[in-house]
Amino acid sequence: MDLMGVFLHDTTWTLVLEIIIRCCVMFLLILVFLKLSGKRGIRQLSIFEVAIILSLGSAAGDPMFIDDAPIVQAFVVMCTIIILYRFVTWTMMKSKKVEILLEGKPLCIVEDGLLVIQDMQKEKYSHDEFFAEMRQKSVEHLGQVKVALLETDGCLSILFYAKEDTKWGLPLFPQHYKKADNINTQRYYSCMYCGLTQHLLHLEQECTRCNSKDWAESLLTPHIS
Ligand SMILES: [Zn+2]
Repeated sequence: MDLMGVFLHDTTWTLVLEIIIRCCVMFLLILVFLKLSGKRGIRQLSIFEVAIILSLGSAAGDPMFIDDAPIVQAFVVMCTIIILYRFVTWTMMKSKKVEILLEGKPLCIVEDGLLVIQDMQKEKYSHDEFFAEMRQKSVEHLGQVKVALLETDGCLSILFYAKEDTKWGLPLFPQHYKKADNINTQRYYSCMYCGLTQHLLHLEQECTRCNSKDWAESLLTPHIS
C-alpha cells in the first residue's frame, strides 16, 4: 500500500487553496441556510430536524474538497431541502395528524409519583436515561412529581407537587436508590422498577403493578427549586 498516496494522493498547493475557498463558501452557505430554516438555535432536535441537518450537511460536505463538485449544484440541493423543510413545517402547523406523524407526541412518563410502565415496557424509552434526566432537574424521589412529560424534542417537562402534597416515593439518587436490606413494617418501600410505594410485610413481596421484587426505602422530602 502506498502510504504517501493515502495521505497526499494528487494534492497540490493550488488544490489546497481551492479547498480553503470551497470550505469558506460552503460554511457561509450552511449558515445562511440554517438561518433560512427559521430555527433560532439548536438545543434538542426532533427526528425530522435531524434529517434536515444531515441532508444539509452532506450536500455541503462534498463540494468542500471534491474538486469536480460544482458549488452551484450543492446550492440547488440546499435550496430544495430548505423549501421542503419550510413546506413540511407549514403542513405540520395546518395538520395535527402530520405533526404527530413526523414529530411524535409528548410521552407521559410519570403520573402521580408513579412511572407509567406501559410505554416503558414497549421500550419507547430507557429507565436509566430517564432517571438521569430527572436527577438533573433536581428530583430527589418520584413522590415529588405530579406529572413528567417527555417532549417531542427530547426535553423533559416536570410538574412538581406542592410541598404539603408531596408523597412518599422512589429515590432517584444512588445513595438511596438501592435494595432495602431490612424490613420495618412501619416504613414505606418503593418498587425500584415502577415506583409503586407501600408498606411491606416482607422484602420478597411482589410488586402488584410490575411483578418486580426489588424494593428501596422511600423518601418524603419536598422538592426544593
Ligand atoms: Zn413495580
